[in-house]
Amino acid sequence: MSGGDSLDFEIRPNPAPVGDGERAALLANPGFGRVFTDHMVTVRYADGKGWYEPRVEARAPIPMDPASAVLHYAQEIFEGLKVYTLPDGGVAMFRPEANAARFALSAQRMAMPALPEELFLKSLHEIISIDRKWIPEGEDGSLYLRPFAYASEVFLGVRPALEYLYLVIASPVGPYFSGGVKPVSVWVTPDYTRAAPGGTGAAKCGGNYAAGLSAQAEAAGHGCDQVVYLDAVERKYIDELGGMNVFLVLDDGSLVTPPLTGTILPGITRDSVIKLAERAGRRVDERAISLEEWREGAASGRVREAFACGTAAVITPIGTIKSPDGEFKVADGGPGEVTMGLRKELVDIQRGRAEDTFGWVH
Ligand code: PMP
Repeated sequence: MSGGDSLDFEIRPNPAPVGDGERAALLANPGFGRVFTDHMVTVRYADGKGWYEPRVEARAPIPMDPASAVLHYAQEIFEGLKVYTLPDGGVAMFRPEANAARFALSAQRMAMPALPEELFLKSLHEIISIDRKWIPEGEDGSLYLRPFAYASEVFLGVRPALEYLYLVIASPVGPYFSGGVKPVSVWVTPDYTRAAPGGTGAAKCGGNYAAGLSAQAEAAGHGCDQVVYLDAVERKYIDELGGMNVFLVLDDGSLVTPPLTGTILPGITRDSVIKLAERAGRRVDERAISLEEWREGAASGRVREAFACGTAAVITPIGTIKSPDGEFKVADGGPGEVTMGLRKELVDIQRGRAEDTFGWVH
């Protein structure tokens, strides 16, 4: 047994991996989040012992006691990132150290022990190398990695657990947009908020997503793809979408996006967009944006484009904005020039077609 945050993974290859033919059939049309690779990473944690028994093993159900703390008090965090094939046949991840850092911040907020960043990164390398055959070839597909950790201690008391399990599973995914980039429609929910000041909005914890499901259902009920949350205090300012951050492009060419005040997820795509736009000489203001500013700006032409961004869809135009006060579009609701330019720049860096001056691709 290894102890003390060891980086030496024990490799236990799956004795019955999916056959080549079946895998090829699965990779031809994987969808999102339904197909999984042959292996998973597991690392255990116990108070006083640290992270121990780092392992790569066959993907399988995890036995769970009914009194496991996570099932009752939701001490759980996760991350999501993609692995791509490069034109030269190599394999790349985009800014995995940013996911490692955010995972550590999420852990801190949920009173969980931080996983050392080197262990997080090593775990990703381990699953990629053993399940490399599962990375879809070509332009659009990718292997989605889902690192997560939860309170595994068998105990019903309300306090931070003393035992945790960290895992990484991997899922090949197809293109997010089949048939080209399509603008998303959004519903500004009057009924639900996502995160209050002092809450868990900046953490990537499962509970945030459970709390968002009703709002997402409301959005779908209004024929919209995604929900927009307003701030929980004044119900006036835009926070973010259910799973993406928001940007507006103004008529002077500058970008505005809500600030990181603890109520929104600090998106890695958001950060990348800010850096790319600033490098191109654009001004980016991280400031509060009211729904009224968005609506009036769309009417006056001050707001030229609106887009959402996140790992899954990269950068996607926001077409129609609906709320109980009515609906509006930014410009004609189609993909804007600045939006699509940033999208191309980012995807080209991710896919190894443009020079990676920021050192983002690993
Ligand atoms: N906000 C929320 C609520 C999200 O779930 C995500 C997806 N992780 C994002 C924003 C975008 O973050 P990223 O660019 O790191 O994927």
